Amino acid sequence: MRNHGIGSWTARRARRTPDRPAVVYGHVQLTYGQLHDRTTRLAHHLRGLGVRPGDRVAYLGPNHPSFLETLFAAGHLGAVFVPLNTRLAEPELRHCLADSGASVLVHTAAFEAFAGSCDVPRRVAAGAALDERLAALPATPLDVPVTHADIAIIMYTSGTTGRAKGAVLTHGNLIWNSVNTLVDGEFSAGDVTLLSAPLFHTAALNMTCLPTVLKGGTLVLEDSFSPTRTLDLIERLRVTVMFGVPAMFQQVAAAAGFADADLSSVRMLLCGGAPVPEALIRTYQERGIGFLQGYGMTEASPGVCLLDADHALGKPGSAGLPHFFTDIRIVDPAGDDAARGELLVEGPNVMRGYWNLPEETATALQDGWFRTGDIAAADEDGYVTIVDRAKDMIISGGENIYPAEVEKALHEHPAVDDCAVIGIPDEKWGEVPRAVVVLAPGAEATAEDILVFLDGRLARYKIPKSLVFTDALPRSGAGKLLKPHIRRTYGTTS
Ligand code: ATP
Ligand code: MG
Repeated sequence: MRNHGIGSWTARRARRTPDRPAVVYGHVQLTYGQLHDRTTRLAHHLRGLGVRPGDRVAYLGPNHPSFLETLFAAGHLGAVFVPLNTRLAEPELRHCLADSGASVLVHTAAFEAFAGSCDVPRRVAAGAALDERLAALPATPLDVPVTHADIAIIMYTSGTTGRAKGAVLTHGNLIWNSVNTLVDGEFSAGDVTLLSAPLFHTAALNMTCLPTVLKGGTLVLEDSFSPTRTLDLIERLRVTVMFGVPAMFQQVAAAAGFADADLSSVRMLLCGGAPVPEALIRTYQERGIGFLQGYGMTEASPGVCLLDADHALGKPGSAGLPHFFTDIRIVDPAGDDAARGELLVEGPNVMRGYWNLPEETATALQDGWFRTGDIAAADEDGYVTIVDRAKDMIISGGENIYPAEVEKALHEHPAVDDCAVIGIPDEKWGEVPRAVVVLAPGAEATAEDILVFLDGRLARYKIPKSLVFTDALPRSGAGKLLKPHIRRTYGTTS
């Protein structure tokens, strides 16, 4: 085989474990042999549409077997897979399509109308009609040479701090991220991995799906998340691993059937994007289930640090240790090592750059180190804690204020349902913090009640100088506060 990239994985798996179930989606079940067969036929179809090595093939749809088939078919052809975030607004999707220069868009039925309105040269609708066409195509592999240095995917960042940027990830990046995950995590051939978090996000695809396939486990795909269905699937399919963000596990724990559900098959819960609250760790620990918590970003394919289940309670709030093959530095603005500062990442999982953005790439990648834009601190054992994003930091009278810390304190007030802290211009201090708060349903509290509550919990300079109420705060699909938007709306001094 001259294909050394992830596009060869279905062939390699089919060679070893053709009859093992690879994908379960509703009533659909595909063995590794069948997945390879369908992927190869799709590769022939895409080649017939003109796709050549290096061309971009975009995918738009929720979790569905065709997502994986397109990913591996593109890799089979040496083409570049571009997963699109279904939660983006149409203009944002058009931007990603135009920016990536995709020559083909593969989509599910739900996106038929949108796909029809796009000026991408070729469109492929997943479904019965495509299946019929594929049945008539050969299942003989195309022997396209692919190296680890070739581009595997362009994955757009979440767009939390501005416009989404296309991170260029090579086959080598994805393979090394899988190796890191397998070294520091625990995937096995017998795994049944439940994925109801969207595959177009880096953690679901690269930290969960790819390592599962590499080991020959089974992927259970869900196109949306429901806590009760999650419990049902765990029992019925004997799920061993599930990936999600903390809010999903919170909802599962709060679901009616949680106390009585048979969770004995579950070995680990993979979690990313934010630390898992201690109470939630305990709730699952009582059922014998541990959390593996990851910190990373699209640009690092994404794994940077991992906190294992054994240290979840001993190192609360920590993001864990850097991955085996990945190195970090924590530096001050002058670039010198510091106890607290910006986290830099270096390793074989770090992206090649941003697609079409040479200036942003030059700023983000310096001497091989990726500047994460996250502020971090490490303890004496090397465990890393993510403090906040550098872009969100407020400098007030020369003191640094990390909004995440203030938000955490605000969340402790029972009347606070949601909150964000931003800096607003101030003549005397340069900037001062302002809180924007959503009250819990039925709760009554004045701005003063809440600010007085912070007295003693936070240093004086960190306590917001003003507090405004609102009905809802803008959050991204991944649940992150959209700070630029919040600053624009609430950041004026009035
Ligand atoms: P954009 O780069 O477009 O503004 P984004 O940074 O939110 O969006 P992602 O790559 O999806 O896009 O998210 C990575 C970021 O998420 C990290 O840089 C960090 O700020 C945050 N993050 C990820 N995991 C954790 C974690 N375990 N704890 C705290 N923050 C985390
Ligand atoms: Mg980012």
